[in-house]
Amino acid sequence: MLDYDLHCHSNVSDGLLSPTEIVTRAAERGVKFLALTDHDNVDGLAEAAEAAKSCGIELINGVEISVTWRTHTLHIVGLRIDPHNPALLEGLHGIRSGRRHRAELMAESLARSGIGGVLEGAYRYAANPDIIGRTHFARYMVEAGHCKDVGSVFKRYLVKGKPGYVPHQWASLQDAIDWIRGAGGIAVMAHPGRYTAGRKAMGKSTLHELLEEFTAMGGQAIEVVTGSHTPPQYAEFARYATEFGLLSSCGSDYHGPGESYRDLGRLPDLPLECKPVWSAWNL
Ligand code: AMP
Ligand code: MN
Ligand code: MN
Ligand code: MN
Repeated sequence: MLDYDLHCHSNVSDGLLSPTEIVTRAAERGVKFLALTDHDNVDGLAEAAEAAKSCGIELINGVEISVTWRTHTLHIVGLRIDPHNPALLEGLHGIRSGRRHRAELMAESLARSGIGGVLEGAYRYAANPDIIGRTHFARYMVEAGHCKDVGSVFKRYLVKGKPGYVPHQWASLQDAIDWIRGAGGIAVMAHPGRYTAGRKAMGKSTLHELLEEFTAMGGQAIEVVTGSHTPPQYAEFARYATEFGLLSSCGSDYHGPGESYRDLGRLPDLPLECKPVWSAWNL
């Protein structure tokens, strides 16, 4: 599936490439409809829209909102949002504001494990310091020789139960859905196969409760094909989409060269039984 890639990141959040570079790279790889979905902000969309015009691809305005649901951190993607909607912008501003303090606490936790200098190091990787987050920490920790790559950092550090992890209160699920829908967008459950309880996958009954609540609150779609799902998970989440009457989305969740399993547009087709999230779009 080269045409649609509805989830990726620029350096306006924790991607490595600028919005222009992301759009250009997507066009070179045959993507025709690209959603830029930076974490908790929409500041890259204007530049991406300019670049999309000159590459002849359609930019879909997106965002990926961090949510706390029960004890879990979830991500909700908003597609086709109005990036000027005041309630959305205010909501995103609210969740961003805790990131700097969280970063200080993360650095203190790492320092207690003998890893120093990380706060300054991580900020050097954050083109947009407003969105300082775990990926920037991980990149610096690789540079400093603590781990061989970003993936290894997320095994030994920065996750529940490990040094550098700091619990954080993000948006509520209902608020995230309301901001997205209030801005004219579609609320998509991002990479549902990635949610864990401790080190284990979220249990089936919890996942059912989550999708029931998500649907009842106005959630409309679920990522079936994403860079972090395995082929058996494509089939599993296609079944969930059917069971809950959700539209299906696909996106690479690309973060940059050498860091992502899937490049832009390099995704298999949605399973046949899925109703694509774009089926009702007049593009
Ligand atoms: P934050 O919003 O600061 O908690 O950072 C979350 C980001 O960390 C995600 O959007 C991913 O980009 C990255 N991340 C989380 N888990 C992993 C992992 N296992 N491997 C690589 N990157 C990860
Ligand atoms: Mn990310
Ligand atoms: Mn995510
Ligand atoms: Mn993402």
